[in-house]
Amino acid sequence: MHREPVVIVGAGLIGLAIAYELARRGATVHVIDANEPGRAASWAGAGMLAPYTETPASPAFEAFCIASLERYPGFVAGVQGRSGVDVRLQLDGVVEAAYGEADEARLRARPRTRWVTRDEVRLMEPVLGAGVRGAAICEAEGQVDNRRLGRALLAACAALGVRVDARAGPVAIEANARRVLGVRGPLGFIPAGAIVNATGAWAGMLEGVPEHARVPVTPVKGQMLALAMPRGLVRRVLWIPGAYLVPRDDGRLLVGATVEPVGFDVRVTARGLGSMLEAALAAVPALGDLAVAETWAGLRPGSADGLPYIGGTSLGGYYVATGHYRNGILLTPATAELIADILEGRADGIAAFSPLRVHEGSAAAEK
Ligand SMILES: Cc1cc2nc3c(=O)[nH]c(=O)nc-3n(C[C@H](O)[C@H](O)[C@H](O)COP(=O)(O)OP(=O)(O)OC[C@H]3O[C@@H](n4cnc5c(N)ncnc54)[C@H](O)[C@@H]3O)c2cc1C
Repeated sequence: MHREPVVIVGAGLIGLAIAYELARRGATVHVIDANEPGRAASWAGAGMLAPYTETPASPAFEAFCIASLERYPGFVAGVQGRSGVDVRLQLDGVVEAAYGEADEARLRARPRTRWVTRDEVRLMEPVLGAGVRGAAICEAEGQVDNRRLGRALLAACAALGVRVDARAGPVAIEANARRVLGVRGPLGFIPAGAIVNATGAWAGMLEGVPEHARVPVTPVKGQMLALAMPRGLVRRVLWIPGAYLVPRDDGRLLVGATVEPVGFDVRVTARGLGSMLEAALAAVPALGDLAVAETWAGLRPGSADGLPYIGGTSLGGYYVATGHYRNGILLTPATAELIADILEGRADGIAAFSPLRVHEGSAAAEK
């Protein structure tokens, strides 16, 4: 492991979990965030842990998502133990309800899920409207309260001696022709043996990174809202046509989410809220009388090919962990472990996720 500190730029779930994992293994770690830790996409997300219900981009991605889900209980036990914060991990199943024939055929054919009849699903989730035909339930899936997980990771990092500079302003990487030297920002220069760019949707814009080591990241806006729900009205994460519902045990029912490639715009719009409420009320009319408790939006880090960028680059000591798009909360434990293994020299990384793939075509063209 590097003797000089590992500097992690970005304190979302990805950056904080990497810091936690490295510190657990004995590294000296310094995290820098331009704003509040755990408050960007990692705060805005729905916290679903659903590799089977979400449609994976490729077999390698699916395998990584499943591996991360399997790591969740152990990861959470460690973070909760060091932080004292309960992150409300619930692996009690995700239900996807079918309303049309095509939905039913698709869900009946889906692997690793159990088809339940209309009567069974209405016993499980009585709130579902009369039009439901049945549902697929994936019992291995569930949710975590991602806002609590951010707080827990921050506290666990502090307990392990990680230095976290919040609201540190924009930072820039300093490097010579071969490798990174450190990070410069309003707080001064911090020398680094290795730097991990975990700045989410902003990762393509980090100052000081040479062109040959950059990765293209596109922000994909997601709007959400929360309804104030009587306890137990919705019991499990519930997918319905055009929306999903996530019951939190603080009485909020999250309704999400829009998918909008509109740049760095986090406005909550009438159209965004309208589309989610229309879908939710069409499937579950009983939600119509609930009060709207909260609305928000966040930016998913989208990559060029739908796969994350995790690993080293052509600049020595410069690593990237971003592009997790819709699955960054799910992929937090596996990403942290993979980056820590790569930094320790114990793993080469997963070829499909290598940041080097971005420049492979152009390097070949130059030859
Ligand atoms: C509406 C919505 C719903 C979602 N639902 C789910 C879900 O159910 N399940 C799931 O797995 N995923 C979900 N996601 C995706 C998930 O939230 C993201 O993939 C994940 O949070 C990305 O985490 P991150 O740490 O990479 O980025 P972020 O949480 O965005 O953190 C990046 C951090 O970098 C900092 N930063 C940026 N630039 C700089 C700089 N130059 N210098 C210093 N700091 C900088 C920012 O201030 C920020 O704190 C959802 C996302 C959205 C928006």
